[in-house]
Amino acid sequence: MPVVFVGHGSPMNAIEDNRWGRGWAALGAALPRPRGILAVSAHWYIRGSYLTAAIRPETIHDFGGFPRALSEVSYPAPGDPALARRVVELLDGRRTGLRDDWGLDHGTWSVLVHSHPAADIPVVQLSVDLRLPPAEHLAIGRALAPLRDQGVLIVGSGNVTHNLHDAFRHLGDADAPTPPWASRFDHDLAAALVGHDHAFLAAAPGTADGRLAHPSPDHYLPLLYAAGAADRDDPVTFPVEGFDAGSLSMRSVRYG
Ligand code: ZN
Repeated sequence: MPVVFVGHGSPMNAIEDNRWGRGWAALGAALPRPRGILAVSAHWYIRGSYLTAAIRPETIHDFGGFPRALSEVSYPAPGDPALARRVVELLDGRRTGLRDDWGLDHGTWSVLVHSHPAADIPVVQLSVDLRLPPAEHLAIGRALAPLRDQGVLIVGSGNVTHNLHDAFRHLGDADAPTPPWASRFDHDLAAALVGHDHAFLAAAPGTADGRLAHPSPDHYLPLLYAAGAADRDDPVTFPVEGFDAGSLSMRSVRYG
């Protein structure tokens, strides 16, 4: 099974007809049908690597100030407690376990409503442990790789650049100019992803451009789960590229 990372951007992408949602629909249609989906969303950023355990995970509307139509989106995919338990086994020795206080957040469903609109494939979410350095997130991704052989699609969901202070100045403006630090970071990351350069990926958020691209690393780290689960022989493609609101990279990555 391939591995993907999706730059999800604004929650409004769930309900707007735009190039991002159309790109995710095309990405989903091009993938083999998975037996289950393991989603790693920037928006479940807590202490520990926990798994959603519900048979029917709730659609969580983890944002405020958006139109009512967005709060009414439901993504009724089933859960998969057996898959969640399998991930706990794979992460043996880490702070992990099953949780019933989280469901599918918008980092997951704003993409899946486009890529897998039938909502008939079981989805489990894995939290991003805020205590760990980048190399440890790559290591977790590597530990998850055996799931690929069992037909599980691993989906990281964040953004390659995510400076909301900058992006909020250009919200809704798809043609805003992209600042040099954002295009440089996005370009350098793309090269590192193609080259499976894990040392670069681990160091990137600490560089000068990286600190501007990610004042907080929550939207960067899901990328490392996808990169970690990838094999060196996997071809790397970018099903979606470009910037929203000037500086927000919407780059998606497909391995395999
Ligand atoms: Zn987000």
